[in-house]
This record gives sequence, C-alpha cells and structure tokens, in this order.
Amino acid sequence: MTPVFRFAPSPTGLLHLGHAASASAVWRAAEAIGGRVLLRIEDIDPQRSKAKFATAIEEDLAWLGFRWDGPVVRQSERFDFYAAALSRLDAKGLLYPCRLSRADIAAAAPPAAARDPDGAVRLPLGGARPADPDGPAAHRLNMAKALGALGDERLFWREEGVGAIEARPEFWGDVVLARKETPTSYHLAVVVDDAAQGVTHVVRGRDLYEATAVHRLLQRLLDLPEPAYRHHPILLAPDGGKLSKSRGSPSLRSLRAEGWSREDVLRAVGAA
Ligand code: GLU
Repeated sequence: MTPVFRFAPSPTGLLHLGHAASASAVWRAAEAIGGRVLLRIEDIDPQRSKAKFATAIEEDLAWLGFRWDGPVVRQSERFDFYAAALSRLDAKGLLYPCRLSRADIAAAAPPAAARDPDGAVRLPLGGARPADPDGPAAHRLNMAKALGALGDERLFWREEGVGAIEARPEFWGDVVLARKETPTSYHLAVVVDDAAQGVTHVVRGRDLYEATAVHRLLQRLLDLPEPAYRHHPILLAPDGGKLSKSRGSPSLRSLRAEGWSREDVLRAVGAA
C-alpha cells in the first residue's frame, strides 16, 4: 500500500519560511518511503481564510518544486462530512451545546483554574459550568463522558522515531467540536479528512503535538484508522520568536521578489 502524506495549510496569509520548512519536511518524509502527498486547504474559518491566499499557496508550493497528487481538497467544501461525524458523536450523547466564549469562561474561573495546552482556561471536567448566556451555541465534547466510554482503555499514538505516546486528551477539557460561526472545528475537520483521504502519515509542526491527543480520541470514538505522526521542530525567527506575518516575517513571494531562488529558500530552512 502506498503511504499517503498531506500538507494542510490554512489560507490566512502568504506562506513564509516556516511553511517552506514544514512543506519540505512533509515532501522529504514522503520521498523517503515512496509516499504520495496530498494538498488540503484548511479554510473552515470564514473570517480569516481568503481564496487569494489559497491560490498563492498553490503557486508558492509549485515554485518550490513541491508537487501534490490529485485535486486540492478544500475543507470549506466538506461541511456535510463534518456534520455527519458530529451527529455520530451526538448520537452517543457525547456533545453538549455551549454559548460561553473564552472570555466568559476565563471571567468565571478561579484564579488558579487549569489551562489547556494552548493556554486557554479550561471548563472544569464534568463539573459545574457557568450558566450559558443567550445566542448561538457551539458544541463541545463532554470529555469526562468520552473518556468514560473508553473504560480502562488507554490511548496511544505512534510518533515516528520515538514510539508510542500516551494520548491524554483530558488536558484539553471539553474541546469545541463545532463553533458558533462555523459548524466544525480544526480538531474534528482534521480527523475526518485524514481518514477520508486515506492519510497514513501526518507530518506537521511541533505546535500541534498536544492536539494529537484529541485527534486520537476522536479517531477512536468515530472508529477511524490512526495514521502515524511526526511532529517536526518549528523554524524560529532569527530573534528566537515565532515566524509570522504579524511579526513581520517576510513571505516567500517577497523573498522571491528580492531575488531569492528556490534553492536559497530550501537552504535557509535547512532542506538543501
Ligand atoms: N492547518 C494547520 C496549520 O496550518 C495544520 C493542520 C495539521 O497539519 O494538522 O497550522
């Protein structure tokens, strides 16, 4: 069976060197074992995703010499599949509607309240929650109930080059699986799509390492196959900070306009 990899950028800005490093990690890992690479545009966020950035992603990847297999998959065209997965979890009684914003949760929490791996204040697991205000609802996974459904079973994922890693999704609390403004979330869409696209190897940044615990749990609850994972180190800016548009990191296109070649970019990200 041919291994299947994917590159799954969010079209919220132009690609920068960090994306080039990530893309090169994906394509190199695929090449090493004769795998295919799929391109998936993660554009579920209607506010932040722009069609022009999705087009630019394709152009920049082609310029870098990264070729993907088959048509580009756009998550914004797949909401029906996420809704079906959500209904399956709902039918198991694992979801509840929630109208609280992050700010509402933070305001109601005691000073030493637990935080999730992204730093957001967590709703108490299976405990009392502040009352919902009015308005549209998000849908959260009842984490205590989901874990209860697994009984004594412990969950693991395979991290390539490391081995089995125990997934501890409880550190995320009751994760949002469908947002108020969009009927899915990153966690749900990524798990549904990796399975639908037959992805066998997920290569992505270290910033998503902790999220893998939630992905593993969702795969288990939805009876989806589990890919192998490899989380590569994040390329940092020269000052040691995060590379990002808001911090003024140059886009690949601006480097190209300054005269950088494809080889210059690959060398700068340690891939040539
Ligand atoms: N769309 C995510 C990002 O650009 C990556 C998702 C993933 O690789 O699982 O950060």
